[in-house]
Amino acid sequence: MYKTIDAFMETVISKNPGQDEFHQAVREVVESIWEHLQDNPQYLHTKILDRLIEPERVIMFRVPWRDDQGMVQVNRGYRVEFNSAIGPYKGGLRFHPSVSLSILKFLGFEQIFKNSLTTLPMGGGKGGSDFDPKGKSENEVMSFCQSFMTELNRHIGPVTDVPAGDIGVGGREIGYMFGQYKRIRNEFTGVLTGKGLNWGGSLIRPEATGYGCVYFAQKMLQTKGDSFKGKTVAVSGSGNVAQYTTEKVIELGGKVVTLSDSSGSIYDSEGIDSEKLQWVMDLKNVRRGRMKEYTEKFGGEYWDGKRPWGAKCDVALPSATQNEINKEDAETLVKNGCICVAEGANMPSDPDAIDVFLGNKILFGPGKAANAGGVAVSGLEMSQNSILMSWSREEVDEKLKNIMSSIHDACEKHGKDGDFINYVKGANIAGFIKIADAMMDQGVV
Ligand code: NDP
Repeated sequence: MYKTIDAFMETVISKNPGQDEFHQAVREVVESIWEHLQDNPQYLHTKILDRLIEPERVIMFRVPWRDDQGMVQVNRGYRVEFNSAIGPYKGGLRFHPSVSLSILKFLGFEQIFKNSLTTLPMGGGKGGSDFDPKGKSENEVMSFCQSFMTELNRHIGPVTDVPAGDIGVGGREIGYMFGQYKRIRNEFTGVLTGKGLNWGGSLIRPEATGYGCVYFAQKMLQTKGDSFKGKTVAVSGSGNVAQYTTEKVIELGGKVVTLSDSSGSIYDSEGIDSEKLQWVMDLKNVRRGRMKEYTEKFGGEYWDGKRPWGAKCDVALPSATQNEINKEDAETLVKNGCICVAEGANMPSDPDAIDVFLGNKILFGPGKAANAGGVAVSGLEMSQNSILMSWSREEVDEKLKNIMSSIHDACEKHGKDGDFINYVKGANIAGFIKIADAMMDQGVV
């Protein structure tokens, strides 16, 4: 039995050397649930925490493919099947050069708690590859996806492990991988989510993470009697999550003034309206261009190599990648009057930044709660696939709103401290209890 959090973390670090992102994700959870563990010794005797941080299975594999010049390329593929206590493994695939075992373990670990919070029966997993779809032709992306699925198909299935998209994996990549799965296994099943609408996808799935994050932030603002109306909002990223986050903020009467990509940020003091957003969607999803082009088209400022957190805003919705807000960024946001941060991305705020937000008692919604809308609608896609039905846009959107609201209530229940809600603590404890109890029920496995 560990006497302190540091003693526990020492073991985690020595067993998983060099996996900094994974250590960071584990520490955040352990710090939040430590007191709850001491009050509930049944979890300690059965070593739930030790079991929880050990993935049930990690698969690593070679992904060879040929580029347009006929040259052989080799990437590395992964699937981390982390925890299946409450359902089949569920979590996205990320294709990005930065992908490593550490990043996928942090994402898979977070996914366990997130999926638990959705109230749907889904375990936690994550996968991907260090393949970079940027700058590749359609043919190269297809060749890679087919090779990736040629190996992955033997490890997944509609009641075993159901991957979805993440950074670098959108509708196009899901399509190529689904096609290859079907071809190899000769079965049309809901083995991936984020599918196209006419071949098993769910309405609102592309919008779900962004919309869900804004619904969550709206609930947070409501606890202060406030709303998005008239608020200035900073959004980072310009991919799937950032696009639909922006769309929903505009609909609720807020003004989004920033977007970004891995090269830099744009600042538009007039606000990104629906027309400009449509142009961004075309730029990023069809032409696959860079955000710099925005200022050439619409004016405003381009901040080369910089993140958007220098912009004055009331609400910040980080929607690009992990560790994109550091202590200094967080201090700038608070100094400039930001009252609410809801994480559309996974772990975008580093631990020092979180300390700044919590220390200043602003509303801070961690990714595992605020961005759970994506996986929630993936769960709804799985339900629709199993009953061979499609629900309407309104039905799915209503269910999404209800799920985000119940996640908010769970965070409030376990994180309320006087008139302050610590959403980090609330999300971690609520997510943990459900998983830990299921693991206890199922014995030492
Ligand atoms: P996309 O690939 O659609 O977009 C990612 C965006 O983030 C792009 O604008 C990209 O810029 C930018 N970005 C990626 N890596 C970096 C980096 N290292 N530094 C700066 N910018 C970067 O991904 P999603 O929108 O799907 O995912 C965004 C975040 O949301 C991720 O953290 C993901 O895990 C999380 N998330 C996504 C869900 C989903 O349903 N898609 C569900 C829950 C969480 P560029 O164009 O230059 O690559």
